[in-house]
Amino acid sequence: METFEKVSKLHFFLFPFMAHGHMIPTLDIAKLFATKGAKSTILTTPLNSIHFEKPIKSFNHENPKLEKITIKILDFPCIELGLPLGCENTDFIISNPEPIRDELNQKFLPATSYFKDQLEQLIETMKPDCLVANMFFPWATKVAEKFNVPTLVFHGIGYFSLSVTHCLWLHKPHKKVASSCEPFVIPDLPGDIVLTEEQVAHKEDEESERGKFRKEMRESEINSFGVLVNSFYKLEPAYSDFFKSSVAKRAWNIGPLSLGNREFKEKAERGKKASIDENECLKWLDSKRCDSVIYVSFGTITSFNNEQLIEIAAGLEMSGHDFVWVVNKNGSQGEKEEWLPEGFEDRTKGKGLIIRGWAPQVLILDHQAIGGFLTHCGWNSTLEGVASGLPMVTWPVGAEQFYNEKLVTQVLQIGVSVGVKKMTKATGDFISKEKVEKAVREVMVGEERRERVKELAKMAKDAVKEGGSSDIELNRLMEELMLVKLQNEKE
Ligand code: UDP
Repeated sequence: METFEKVSKLHFFLFPFMAHGHMIPTLDIAKLFATKGAKSTILTTPLNSIHFEKPIKSFNHENPKLEKITIKILDFPCIELGLPLGCENTDFIISNPEPIRDELNQKFLPATSYFKDQLEQLIETMKPDCLVANMFFPWATKVAEKFNVPTLVFHGIGYFSLSVTHCLWLHKPHKKVASSCEPFVIPDLPGDIVLTEEQVAHKEDEESERGKFRKEMRESEINSFGVLVNSFYKLEPAYSDFFKSSVAKRAWNIGPLSLGNREFKEKAERGKKASIDENECLKWLDSKRCDSVIYVSFGTITSFNNEQLIEIAAGLEMSGHDFVWVVNKNGSQGEKEEWLPEGFEDRTKGKGLIIRGWAPQVLILDHQAIGGFLTHCGWNSTLEGVASGLPMVTWPVGAEQFYNEKLVTQVLQIGVSVGVKKMTKATGDFISKEKVEKAVREVMVGEERRERVKELAKMAKDAVKEGGSSDIELNRLMEELMLVKLQNEKE
């Protein structure tokens, strides 16, 4: 109670990168801050604000005694910035064919520095007490510093991947191997973790534009107040300790953030509007045995070609397990879906549910019928899988997903790799139906794996309870920021 009163006047600016994998946990952070009596303003563009409006309205309505979460809309003139109209989110980018997608990806991130002046004006006029800035906005730390506002950097990934990224950047072991598939042990990192060059995410030359940007990101982290991490201590203690002692000055783990969504409505409205009626979906799951269904999703960026989707479908059918499969394609009614094997839906009627578009993921993962998760190892999904106590089939595609796979399969031993060898942008490395079948079967029957992850799920829930490790870290953070605020007010 004392903490609540002390921090009741803190005001945060939250500034997410425009991709659902970043926007979703950012809103979760805002809600968490509200429960500690702090006010949050989310900075975003017109089209992205639409995704925030409904869940924020519900949250403010359901919690009349808490400080309100609000949105400040920033201008993002796509055409002027050399982007097509409406290109305000990575969603737009992946809806394009590959050559265009690559070109837009190159332009999108640099275009976001257009926000600089607007951020400066907003900080000057609204005087927030803290800025939570996405790692992709390293210039934001400097802007906030100008006004004596502390910045917290939010990467959206866990301690393990943050630590791997640091060690790879520092020692560059991938540059010392004879071939791209030769395994190496990551230097300095606890646990003898083995990778290959083909699985390393950021290999750009330090003098290239991207390399310079990465350097800027590191500097902004060093100059910031600290790093906010969506994780909980008992999940990756060795890597939390390593990161705090060897990488960042300070870091606070406040997750799993998804667990802040307790009510049906909150889970159902998380992210985008679901492409399926949530109640229908739960009714379908209610008819299934406990732990009998595998949930298959590749997040928001991955976009497999038809050949791979057909193979996934065949592998799922061959595994004999019931499934919920999310495919981010919206086939119009009557259109022949060339990404499904002939007669697939008739043969799997009642056994499989395909969600075309957006699934209410945490709602589904929490259902007792779900017994496994085939995931691309995006950090949000991985942690949501852990929080729901689900053993995983790991199928990394890009970014830091290969590192998350190592955490899941080697360190925590709660998953089975489908066998992807290398990173292939958003389109993925090809995997046969036999491999899909084998990994799904293995994950659905492995009892020890299931017990381990259920134990972790319990720890995750304890971490976010009042007095749990993540809750304590959050209180500490709030207290430190309150001290800064008081100090600033004195000056
Ligand atoms: N998500 C969802 N429904 C979908 C696809 C994704 O709710 O149909 C959510 C998922 O729960 C997670 C986020 O979107 O919170 C995806 O983030 P992640 O880090 O797993 O992957 P990314 O999309 O960033 O690669």
